[in-house]
Amino acid sequence: MAEQVVADLREKCATPPSLLCDVAAAMADEMCAGLGKEGGSRVQMLLSYVDKLPTGREEGLFYGLDLGGTNFRVLKVQLGGNDKHVISCESREVAIPPHLMSGSSSELFGFIASELAKFVADEEKGTSLSNEKTRKLGFTFSFPVRQRSVASGTLVKWTKAFSIEDAVGKDVVAELQTAMQKQGLDMHVAALINDAVGTLAGARYYDEDVVAGVIFGTGTNAAYVEKANAIPKWEGELPNSGEMVINMEWGNFYSCHLPVTEYDQALDSESLNPGEQASLFYSLPVLAVEHWLNHILWFFQIYEKLTSGMYLGEIVRRVLLKLSLQSGIFGEIDHTKLKTHFHLRTPHISAMHHDDTPNLKIVEEKLEEILEIASTSLETRKMVVEICDIVARRAARLAAAGLAGILKKLGRDGCVDKHRSVIAIDGGLFEHYAKFSKCLEATLYELLGEQSSKSVVIKHADDGSGIGAALIAASQSQCR
Ligand code: ADP
Ligand code: MG
Repeated sequence: MAEQVVADLREKCATPPSLLCDVAAAMADEMCAGLGKEGGSRVQMLLSYVDKLPTGREEGLFYGLDLGGTNFRVLKVQLGGNDKHVISCESREVAIPPHLMSGSSSELFGFIASELAKFVADEEKGTSLSNEKTRKLGFTFSFPVRQRSVASGTLVKWTKAFSIEDAVGKDVVAELQTAMQKQGLDMHVAALINDAVGTLAGARYYDEDVVAGVIFGTGTNAAYVEKANAIPKWEGELPNSGEMVINMEWGNFYSCHLPVTEYDQALDSESLNPGEQASLFYSLPVLAVEHWLNHILWFFQIYEKLTSGMYLGEIVRRVLLKLSLQSGIFGEIDHTKLKTHFHLRTPHISAMHHDDTPNLKIVEEKLEEILEIASTSLETRKMVVEICDIVARRAARLAAAGLAGILKKLGRDGCVDKHRSVIAIDGGLFEHYAKFSKCLEATLYELLGEQSSKSVVIKHADDGSGIGAALIAASQSQCR
């Protein structure tokens, strides 16, 4: 019985190369559709209005603010110009109190502005800079916003653990600017970007062959450099640079080739942001209709739910729960913890997955500590590791297919004598989940083939998103 649950999972999560090629092709197609017209694809392909990425020649003092999923970071960077690059960089990380993630817009931005004001006051203590000129800030805000300029953007919707109703439809830069004013902080938001754009900018500052910035953290997203004349939906004047950074918002990508299981469907329908027709799906008893709906159902952020840190632990929890209820493999246990949504987190499954002790001691400890499952046999623990492996491997392989899709769209997935293409990746999942990042890299090379792989480089961009914001604030204010 237990073996059957695992075998089913293995089968449903399978990602053979042919499936991944289909996913990559679908991603490239969706990219074209999204660039073609507004609403042309679930992958929104938003214009970032960043038409000049930093070159390394920027100079001066700039601030960055990065609001991601769990924490936000404030930082101050001094840029030396020419080859001096970053002369100094100070930063501070602040946890977002959970109640602010579903409170009001003014409370959230008020909190951020007050923490920013404290950081500025501490950093500038004893310096004369404070009252001289307005400070410039780059704001990394990693949620879908609709932009009309580089320094403004209305929030389309929240994702991840955020859900602040009254902020939707508002200009987040204006909200932050008002909150800073209330704090008496003289600071101007010079650029609004997201973490993927920031990662792209941060990596491009040092290496001009960087073509895309990608995040695998709490959520996932990608940004890349597109030719301005390849964006049919753009009605404005084309920039002198001839380029525009596109914020893909690829977390919402869907293709019928994605291997979606019953666990993913249940997770989607019970999440903060379920696919719009999910409730309908569960209220329809007729099997044939259910089957049909299954195929046209447009799950919300489904690619993100299959590939990012917020969800991998939760998927594993759902599998373990079914395993326990159906097979009794864990014995007579109290299911309270195992039934608690998001109780098993991705760092926990990562720890179990990387357990290389002979008797899987770490798995034993985690099961007991987190899920109150004690006295497991070695066989059972091996099964748990395999479940982690299936879920993480599917995530990494689908992630690689997404990257292959971008390269395909750029025409950089083939011939070797083309340019070197560097993809900068950031985010806690990529950084800390070694089996995930190794599998992602190996799969990308598997999909590209040996020859094409030679010109493609995956680079870990350490905190690109925070510093990237400050760098874009610099390139946007200086290179006019
Ligand atoms: P954010 O996406 O909120 O900006 P990060 O990029 O730091 O933040 O990513 C945090 C996410 O990374 C967590 O939600 C978690 O899923 C994942 N993560 C953090 N540490 C680990 C770990 N040791 N193993 C696996 N995943 C981890
Ligand atoms: Mg982040």
